[in-house]
Amino acid sequence: MSRNAEVRFADLAKRYESPDGDEVLALADVDLSIASGEFVAVVGASGCGKSTLLRILAGFEEASEGEVSVGGVPVRGPGPDRGVVFQDYGLFPWLTVAENVGYGPRRRGAKRADARALATRFLETVGLTRFADRYPGQLSGGMQQRVAIARVLANDPSVLLMDEPFGALDALTRSELQVELRRIHRETQTTVLFVTHSIEEAVFLADRVVVMTGGAAHGVPGHISRVVPVDLAGARDVTSAEFNEIKREIADLVHAPRETV
Ligand code: ADP
Ligand code: MG
Repeated sequence: MSRNAEVRFADLAKRYESPDGDEVLALADVDLSIASGEFVAVVGASGCGKSTLLRILAGFEEASEGEVSVGGVPVRGPGPDRGVVFQDYGLFPWLTVAENVGYGPRRRGAKRADARALATRFLETVGLTRFADRYPGQLSGGMQQRVAIARVLANDPSVLLMDEPFGALDALTRSELQVELRRIHRETQTTVLFVTHSIEEAVFLADRVVVMTGGAAHGVPGHISRVVPVDLAGARDVTSAEFNEIKREIADLVHAPRETV
């Protein structure tokens, strides 16, 4: 895919108002460029602003300061060019699997047969062809999350945004989906921003890992403390010394003593 799907966060800040009227600076000084086709994972303790960052790129929230753009075009709201996958699948229970996957194209005017063809194609990508006519409630959590991934792929997104998408899955299913996501990324060359609590998952999946620290509980705005490249050639072996060295480097940054301002 040759389109430009570079993501840029420039001088981004996000303020929220707390229920008692105080201002909470959830994010500050975020500068980050993600190359077109790159896979970037974001890790950090709860409350450091990971989801806020993703939601601003998704267009669900507005930045208080700074700008976010995709392919040079400023983000002004949600759009099918940015496909979002959350932990809780978010499928429509009253639609079949194929109807869920074809939903986006249908909404944008695709004929029923064309939407069905897209659904078939992307259900094949996630290995669920046989389940096209089932309902989400008849599938396991891992299978539902595959449907959710197929559903965003059917919109041909430039950027895939994933917020702890495998957080609710058992360990075995989770590692299967990680392997699949790496394959899907290789095949589609979509730019990915992937938020996770798991440092191992981040190192397994990403080209670079963004480490965030701070957050309201620390008295410092959430911010990027380091971006760690994952220079591992070939298949990633979670038991290898190189893999674990990168994991340890990131863990030290995530758990670093609170910075002073
Ligand atoms: P993470 O995903 O890293 O756990 P979040 O981005 O969800 O962190 O939250 C970052 C900070 O912003 C937290 O202190 C959180 O309480 C605050 N926050 C998030 N959303 C809102 C909101 N809608 N209103 C007020 N505060 C919010
Ligand atoms: Mg979050």
